[in-house]
Amino acid sequence: MDDVGPAHDPAMIAEADAWRSRDLAVLWHPCTQMREHPHELPLVPIASGEGAWLVGRDGRRYLDAVSSWWTNLFGHAEPRIAAAIGAQACSLEQVILAGFSHAPAVELAEKLLAIAPREPGREPLAKVFYADNGSAGVEVALKMAFHWFRNRGEDRRTKFVALENGYHGETLGALAVGDVPLYRRVYAPLLAECLFTPSPDAYLAAPGESAEECARRAAGALEALLDAHGGEVCAMILEPLVQCAGGMRMHHPLYLQLARKLCDAHGVFLIADEIAVGFGRTGTLFACEQAGIQPDLLCLSKGLTGGFLPLAAVLATQALYDGFLDESRERAFLHSHSYTGNPIACAAALASLRVFEEDQVVARNRGTAARMAALAAPIGELPQVADLRQAGMIVAFELARDGDRRTPFEPGLRVGLRAYRAALERGVVLRPLGDILYWMPPYCVDEEQLALLARTTREAILEATACA
Ligand code: PMP
Repeated sequence: MDDVGPAHDPAMIAEADAWRSRDLAVLWHPCTQMREHPHELPLVPIASGEGAWLVGRDGRRYLDAVSSWWTNLFGHAEPRIAAAIGAQACSLEQVILAGFSHAPAVELAEKLLAIAPREPGREPLAKVFYADNGSAGVEVALKMAFHWFRNRGEDRRTKFVALENGYHGETLGALAVGDVPLYRRVYAPLLAECLFTPSPDAYLAAPGESAEECARRAAGALEALLDAHGGEVCAMILEPLVQCAGGMRMHHPLYLQLARKLCDAHGVFLIADEIAVGFGRTGTLFACEQAGIQPDLLCLSKGLTGGFLPLAAVLATQALYDGFLDESRERAFLHSHSYTGNPIACAAALASLRVFEEDQVVARNRGTAARMAALAAPIGELPQVADLRQAGMIVAFELARDGDRRTPFEPGLRVGLRAYRAALERGVVLRPLGDILYWMPPYCVDEEQLALLARTTREAILEATACA
């Protein structure tokens, strides 16, 4: 693309500047130290999106290598999803889902249950509960697990088990089961009790230890924890295969199999948070498939609508659902959000699932993932890269001094931020997690765009670490 370079049109540059000022006068941005605007961090006003590109108000184009916070699947403004949204908005935009029903909510639930992970010998996931975003979906799953035991009179089961370095969202319940200090630490006094167990993260493997052995070791720690506290635990929650916000840390699927067995042995529900990894990101439609396991509760969001609208779905087993059937209203699951099962969001999700079928997306992604692996390999050889890892359409580069895992760059150097800026100048949105750069592009990313991504990543790493 020859239009990736700096914007030239003075009128457009002035317009972008005007939007920046208007924005900073009124907006408080998410996940941002606002003091860093406008000087340290450039705010980028976006006018539109086209496929894998974001088009800036200043006329510049940016390759969206992070799929707009991992939401976008098939590119921006995908016409089939846009059309489905338009059509639904013209017939039924919203209706209360308590006591009322509508076709998009029913059809989407049917479809999700049909494609959900299955495990031989286990009753399939049977019911769908909608919420409005990922964190709300996690809240639903946690509350369901807790409440199910209450309904049976098992009042001791009040705790959750979660993985160290896991992330499940920002609301207080979701934050309680998350372990990324940056988000959690300040709110710790407000959070429900959670028992954290070592992550199977293969990056933490001891020298000479394989990813599989590392998974086995972490499962050993989980076993010890459940042996000691199993009777107090209602559910274990984890992100299958990739701890995304925790730095795209990846683990061997064996851990999921062992955790599944341990949860069964202790009568603890297993909640799979596939909010980030679901819908084809790791190479299969759902990450759990790679371990051949089925959770008791499955949380979906982000890519659920192809990245167009906020929506979450929590899939539950029949046994879980049945535990709420009673004469008493208090035993019912009274959790409710005004926009639960919004028809337009459900229509977008249905259209997104049709794109998966029409375009044979999961099969096509295999080729794209192989291309990403080939382009990433030489970058992984750079002396600043301590680890290169991949799970399907997710590739991560862990930067460390001299490529030594034990010697991270000093936080004050802000290597990740420097890399972000360097990439942005070159027309690529790489939004590192600390000093971890990653690729999680929309699935429509093409050869030329991947080449730009690889070239830019290399240059960004070199530029960001030049000072170190
Ligand atoms: N779980 C996981 C695994 C996530 O990655 C995220 C978002 N990054 C969430 C939950 C929370 O989703 P949301 O941002 O929609 O609240």
